[in-house]
Amino acid sequence: MYLGCHLSASDGYFAMVETAKSIGADTFAFFTRNPRGSKAKKEDPADSAKAVEALREYQFGPLVAHGAYTMNLCTKEPDAREFAAQILCDDLRRMSALPGNFYNFHPGSHVGQGTETGISQICDALKLALTPGYPVTVLLETMAGKGSEVGGTFQELKDIIDGVGSDDVGVCLDSCHIYDGGYDIVNDLDGVLAEFDRVIGLDKLKALHLNDSKNPYGSHKDRHACIGEGSLGVDTFRSIVNHPLLKGKPMILETPNELPGYAAEIKLLRQMAQP
Ligand code: ZN
Ligand code: FE
Ligand code: FE
Repeated sequence: MYLGCHLSASDGYFAMVETAKSIGADTFAFFTRNPRGSKAKKEDPADSAKAVEALREYQFGPLVAHGAYTMNLCTKEPDAREFAAQILCDDLRRMSALPGNFYNFHPGSHVGQGTETGISQICDALKLALTPGYPVTVLLETMAGKGSEVGGTFQELKDIIDGVGSDDVGVCLDSCHIYDGGYDIVNDLDGVLAEFDRVIGLDKLKALHLNDSKNPYGSHKDRHACIGEGSLGVDTFRSIVNHPLLKGKPMILETPNELPGYAAEIKLLRQMAQP
């Protein structure tokens, strides 16, 4: 298991590696651009090279970059959809500076076009963006099924993976989202993982987001809570960090915290994990 949290990319990649190390993390997530806009930072090859070296030296696990929330690959308006697809392509190109890591994103919201149309538009964008062969694995995030979100069921993610037909597509499982989405990891984590394996295949599960939920089971809401302060509870996270099928995966906190809170949660999760 690798543990980390979301960090601010504003000071560059190397600064994030040092910050992560200072709070006991051995992976982290960061937004590839303004999460609620589309603006990206200027690229800095010297900074990337230093970060790559430090990641190796500190023996970090794979990083899990996060695409902007505003990037909707299945939005209705063709120009906006094309813009989102360009952003995806540019993000994957930028990830070449940190080869061998993950790029996670929210599949999209079909905004009334229907799930089937949404899935085919997401597949079209991914096929194009993956064609240049950048050294990154794309992860579809499991969603809470809020509004017209695509990816609220394992089957929808499987349909995207099959539609793209590339080995460079996997899944990032968000604990808050799937519980909100109707997968009962509180009472039956084994059953949910068996279902994941049956529908998608556990070989596609590459990373996790560890979040408690402010809302009850099946609420389709997507409001994150700190570990142990929501409807999942601390015992669910104990089961997750000790589950043999989840061993060795990067686990990213997206809880409502600043750095000291993240440091405390990382410590708590490490204490709960049996060696
Ligand atoms: Zn997310
Ligand atoms: Fe998430
Ligand atoms: Fe979320």
